[in-house]
Amino acid sequence: EEAKSLNFIEHIIEDDLKEGFNKEGLRFRFPPEPNGYLHIGHASSICLNFGLGEKYNAPVNLRFDDTNPAKEEQAFVDAIKRDVEWLGYKWDEVRYASDYFQQLYDWALVLIKKGKAYVDSQPSEKIAEQKGTPNTPGTESPYRNRSVEENLSLFEQMKNGDFKEGEHVLRAKIDMASSNMLMRDPVMYRILHKAHHRTNTDWCIYPMYDWTHGESDYIEQVSHSFCTLEFAMHRELYNWFLEQVYDPNKVKPKQREFARRNLSHTVVSKRKLLRLVEEGVVKGWDDPRMPTISGLRRRGYTPDSIKNFAKTIGIAKRDNLIDVSLLEFHAREDLNKKAPRIMAVLNPLKVVITNYPENTDEYLEAENNPEEDVLTYRKVPFSREIYIEQEDFREEANRKFFRLKLGGEVRLKNAYIIKAEKAVKDDQGNIVEVHCTYDPLSKSGSGTPESQRKVKGTLHWVSIPHAKEVEVREYDRLFTEAEPDRHKEKDFLEFVNPDSLRIVKGYVEPSVETAKEGDHFQFQRIGYFNVDRDTTHEKLVFNKTVGLRDTWAK
Ligand code: ATP
Ligand code: MG
Ligand code: MG
Repeated sequence: EEAKSLNFIEHIIEDDLKEGFNKEGLRFRFPPEPNGYLHIGHASSICLNFGLGEKYNAPVNLRFDDTNPAKEEQAFVDAIKRDVEWLGYKWDEVRYASDYFQQLYDWALVLIKKGKAYVDSQPSEKIAEQKGTPNTPGTESPYRNRSVEENLSLFEQMKNGDFKEGEHVLRAKIDMASSNMLMRDPVMYRILHKAHHRTNTDWCIYPMYDWTHGESDYIEQVSHSFCTLEFAMHRELYNWFLEQVYDPNKVKPKQREFARRNLSHTVVSKRKLLRLVEEGVVKGWDDPRMPTISGLRRRGYTPDSIKNFAKTIGIAKRDNLIDVSLLEFHAREDLNKKAPRIMAVLNPLKVVITNYPENTDEYLEAENNPEEDVLTYRKVPFSREIYIEQEDFREEANRKFFRLKLGGEVRLKNAYIIKAEKAVKDDQGNIVEVHCTYDPLSKSGSGTPESQRKVKGTLHWVSIPHAKEVEVREYDRLFTEAEPDRHKEKDFLEFVNPDSLRIVKGYVEPSVETAKEGDHFQFQRIGYFNVDRDTTHEKLVFNKTVGLRDTWAK
């Protein structure tokens, strides 16, 4: 039974345990490069690695893969930590590949001494040319057979800053005829005269990803190193590098690959998201339209909605595209349980209840959330003048229109049954207000026969004198195409949806006045909303997280 529900990654671990690997030795890591904010694709990797940590009660490190000072920043490190914590995961230790620069350098010296690495003094274009093609062997560099002494001396000079960028590189000496192009003497170090956000100017040679990653896993004694499929071909090199330094008494990390997760109508690549930020398409990394964890948080996604999404899509062996509506489904499902209901009107139409007394302060009882274990209630003010949604009224309509029409009745949520008597119009013939009458005996929950009378429609509303005006930001998809970056001949920015943000004025019931940044609400009959951080004392600002129904399916 149990075995059936395991994913293929868990099978790998279970098999290792069966073959005698000590459970105490299990250790995982999540290894982001701090060159941008985490996105929904990373959420899969986070849930995988930290999920395994929880399942096997094993430590998980947060490791910053910070070997490229040109693109990395402390601000990204901070944002990544914040996002992982917000998702609710606890790392064992925060580590940085840059912590290992000295160890990696020392190991590089070991490789040089063993004749397994050499300094190449050719320009990078030349090196690339000599790589050959998968079907033809590459050409060996004329520097490949430099003496150990010469290599040691040149490598030290590289480290000391005696050369300009591009003058030399350190390469592993493996096999220029390998069928795996990555094994054709890969570069281990390049010269970069750039300050690093952690090591400052201590180093001017920086290790390449392949040389760094496996050795970092080894230093941390990570047992299983899970990465995305594009690294499958790198596995051979990962193992080769490990072989050079491996102590048989220690755990030898195992790299295994899983599929990248892509989400429709957006891009999940830090590099592309950076362009959206830099070119001003969005207002920042946490713009609610962004597929970043912080954008989703600001939009109103909960950690559970993101984790449940990641669990549902699971771990796959082949790349595929997940429709964004599945992510939205999980937002709805979680917010349905957690978000208190309130009444808000976004396209107001004034209704005057002509037989309701003026200057009366009536407060009605309203249920906060029918999903609560123990129901709680709040007071909602009612009055003679209320707003309903424009689309909830028509002068004339067929039988299927269960909302308000002239001569017809509806129930006002938590309140009374009203009947539309007259539509008041302006000179252009636009309806500016509707005059109604109410049945004073029909109050919800009052127990009278009138209150139990069945009418088809129930409308949400707000009392005009009590309503609070708010700003509501409604979002559409950021891209008009499901896969904006699939087109080879077109830049993905050509598919940006010009109407992805719409700002409207809305009216909410006064109970919302005390809401704080991040608070979630269901605006009844409309959708889920949360309080944006742009909120001030004067003005509440809401983000629409998602509508109540999947309106995209049509
Ligand atoms: P990006 O192109 O967005 O920078 P990346 O893979 O270079 O992605 P890293 O910071 O290196 O980003 O990613 C950290 C971890 O998250 C890696 O193990 C990586 O494989 C994984 N990861 C990144 N993107 C996805 C994705 N779309 N789906 C699943 N895992 C991902
Ligand atoms: Mg990476
Ligand atoms: Mg990257």
